[in-house]
Amino acid sequence: MRVINWQMSNEPLSKSFALREEIDAALTDERSYDTWSQELIEAHSRHKTERVYQNLRFQLITGFAISMSTLFFDLFVLPHLFGFALGWRLVTILPLTLAGLFLFKADQIQSIKLFAGLSLITFGTQAMILASFGNPEVMVRYAMGTTLLLGIATFALPFTPNELKRFGLGFALATSLATFWPNPLPTQQAMMYLTFTALVAIPSWCIARQHWELNARAFLLDLRDDVTRQELEQNNELLRQLSEQDPLTGMANRRHFERVCSDNLANPELRGVGRIALMMIDLDHFKAFNDRHGHQAGDRCLTMVGSQLQEVFGKRIGIIARYGGEEFVAALQEQVAGEAESLAEDMCQMIAKMLVPVRDDSKPLITTSIGVALAPADTRLELEDLIEMADVALYSAKRAGRNRVEFIETGGLLDVTETPEQGRIRA
Ligand code: GH3
Ligand code: MG
Ligand code: MG
Repeated sequence: MRVINWQMSNEPLSKSFALREEIDAALTDERSYDTWSQELIEAHSRHKTERVYQNLRFQLITGFAISMSTLFFDLFVLPHLFGFALGWRLVTILPLTLAGLFLFKADQIQSIKLFAGLSLITFGTQAMILASFGNPEVMVRYAMGTTLLLGIATFALPFTPNELKRFGLGFALATSLATFWPNPLPTQQAMMYLTFTALVAIPSWCIARQHWELNARAFLLDLRDDVTRQELEQNNELLRQLSEQDPLTGMANRRHFERVCSDNLANPELRGVGRIALMMIDLDHFKAFNDRHGHQAGDRCLTMVGSQLQEVFGKRIGIIARYGGEEFVAALQEQVAGEAESLAEDMCQMIAKMLVPVRDDSKPLITTSIGVALAPADTRLELEDLIEMADVALYSAKRAGRNRVEFIETGGLLDVTETPEQGRIRA
């Protein structure tokens, strides 16, 4: 059983299950990723962020490494253009890679994706510019290499289908442009490159998209499981709270009181060092109040008493609850000497001053009798013993004329066999 540290948890439960409806609709209608709601897309990118970061870092570093290692190829095939090839990589690919890696600290995933995409596009563009200066055989090799780069990038980049579409179009456009400018390729080679690019780009994009959709669906299924678990936990918590709340006054009920007290009394660390006080608070002649003013006024009175008692109890260490009928109960862990006595007196006086609205405007007053059991923090008495002691004090208060507080205090360390009557009664 969960231990509650004296105070009842009153945190409001969030009952917003809107996300669940979105998930169910997306799964049953087999919605594609592009048509998901903003909320789902955000949940998906939050879930993927860590993997995307790792993937992008890898892409940036390997992309740069590949671009540098292919310099050897340029050196052998087009030695007179080596300076251009090296300069291009150092002026475009290197800064884009460094900017992308630097942004990892700044949490800028979109910009990192942009830099990763741009560095591949500039790499491909440069390859096609170099191709235009070679012989037909060199041209074909560079063109094949560029198309291969596009195909691999489409699968490897952690981009959404739309981002991939933009990247593919950008790549195809920039590299195609390089077949015409600054040094045009012969028409046959240019046409061959364009055909190759279309043949690789379109199917790779379609397969990458299908792969993305399958992963997105798997994510939705996982998310639905998560949400279902959260809903169950929230519903359980709500039921538990409702079963431990008094519906009339909204206070903790006897069940909650007993659970919290037993938990706290059983745990020496939660008992504190001051005395423990248990107070039984019983309205005086409440039956007569009901008979005279009706049950509805009686209910109003109980609600007012409940909120007055909670207000007086305030943020002290302990718990106050409706015990049942016209009886309330409080447990207090004293922080200062004499706190229990003054609290009980305050409660008694506050209720005596309370004005309960009734049908005939007669402004009836209601009083209360309180029996307080006091025990040292290290008492071995259990909750039932303390309640029994408080009851003894309460009946003593009733006998003594009501509208008063009576105390019963056990001295020192009590043996559990000691009966409450052996405590010392004092007014
Ligand atoms: P005493 O001073 O000895 O405690 O007398 P009493 O009349 O308060 O005690 P008794 O036990 O005879 O009566 C308690 C009354 O409390 C009886 C019942 O009508 C009333 N009562 C209990 N629960 C509720 C409730 O939820 N609403 C209302 N209106 N009355 C309640
Ligand atoms: Mg009673
Ligand atoms: Mg009563």
